[in-house]
Order: sequence, then structure tokens, then C-alpha cells
Amino acid sequence: MSITSAKYVGSFPDFSKCPKDNVPEYAFIGRSNVGKSSLINLLTQRKSLAKTSSTPGKTQMINYFFIDEAWYLVDLPGYGYAKLSKKHRASLKKMVQEYMKNRLQLVNAFVLIDSRIQPQQIDLDFVNFLGEHQVPFSLVFTKVDKQSNQKTMANIEAFKTEMRTSWQELPPIFPTSSIANVGGEALMEYIDGINGKLQAEQRNGN
Ligand code: GDP
Repeated sequence: MSITSAKYVGSFPDFSKCPKDNVPEYAFIGRSNVGKSSLINLLTQRKSLAKTSSTPGKTQMINYFFIDEAWYLVDLPGYGYAKLSKKHRASLKKMVQEYMKNRLQLVNAFVLIDSRIQPQQIDLDFVNFLGEHQVPFSLVFTKVDKQSNQKTMANIEAFKTEMRTSWQELPPIFPTSSIANVGGEALMEYIDGINGKLQAEQRNGN
């Protein structure tokens, strides 16, 4: 299950300027340096697709790619970027939050989390925000090649334990590595599965 075509659509400064058509979209977000560009390149099997979103002027935009003429991959700015001013960080945060709250075409947000580290408050705050606004999301643990499976599993378990303090049900979880080519297939199957259901619903007129 791999992607046949991936086209850059454009970069938009806020959700209201994003494409108006009714194409299902999947957003990718996480702390800067979490491995988002590498994961997008792994999924699309194009070495430099995500580079488009990291060119000057686009890192702080909502970047759209049209995949297989069927769905949008949305590359959102990373959060927690230490080099930005407080004011700038706040305006990026607002842009992302407004997108998440208002974008009706958003089917699922993939929240990327570094599998090497213990749960970080900034990631927990972000998933709690999504929960409060009923945005469907999944957790993607990146860079699993960097340590033993045991360590990865321990960090994922620790994150789940933190989430259980405020959540009854946990989201789907995908361990991935762009270097060792882990998890891309599972993510693609997940996206294809949802798109299949959406198409069936449309055919049935729901
Ligand atoms: P972004 O800022 O979230 O887009 O992160 P990048 O994709 O640019 O990756 C940040 C750094 O982590 C780069 O040095 C990548 O080479 C490295 N990296 C990304 N994904 C992986 C991975 O799966 N395994 C390893 N070992 N390194 C990775």
C-alpha cells in the first residue's frame, strides 16, 4: 500500500484560507525536530517532499499535499520551537489550535512523539487540547531505531499511563522509524481504511 502521486498544493496562513473542496485531510504535527519531515518523506516515498514545507516562509504555514488524488496530507508547524520569540510562538499556537478546532475536513491528526523520551508536558497538553475539542487523533512514536524495543515500549507505556489519568479510551498508537523503515505501512493502512469507510458512506448518501 504505497502512495502513487503526491503533489504540493500550497501553504496557507490560517484555516479559513485552506482549500475549500471537500477532500478528507490528515494532519501531521509534533514538537520541532520530532522527525515529522522524515516521516512524511517515508510515507510518500519522496526524499524531499516535506522539504517544500521547510523552505523559508513555509515552516510557519499550513502546508498541503494532494495524495493519490484522494486525500490531503497537511504538514503543520512544529510546536515548542525554542528559537522563536514568545509572541511568535503564541501566534503559531493559535493558528494550529484554530485549524484543529474549525477545520471540518480534518479526519485525523497524527501527533508525533519522540519515542526516546519520557512523557513531555507539552505533548500531553496538546493531546488534551485535541480531546477537549473532540478532534480525532493518533499517536505516532518516532525514531524507534534509536533504542531497544524494551525502552521504546517503556516510554510508550509511560505516555499511556499519563493519558489514563484523564482519558478512558486511548487513541491508536504507531511506533515508527524513518531510518529503519518501520511503521509506514501501518500508517498507510490506517489512512486507507478510514478513506474507504468515508467513500462507502458517501456512496450510501450519509
Ligand atoms: P522535524 O523537525 O520534525 O521535521 O524533524 P526532521 O524530520 O527534520 O528530523 C529531525 C532530526 O531527527 C534529523 O536529524 C533526522 O535525521 C532525525 N530523524 C528523523 N527521523 C528519524 C528516525 O526515525 N530515526 C533516527 N535515528 N533519526 C531520525
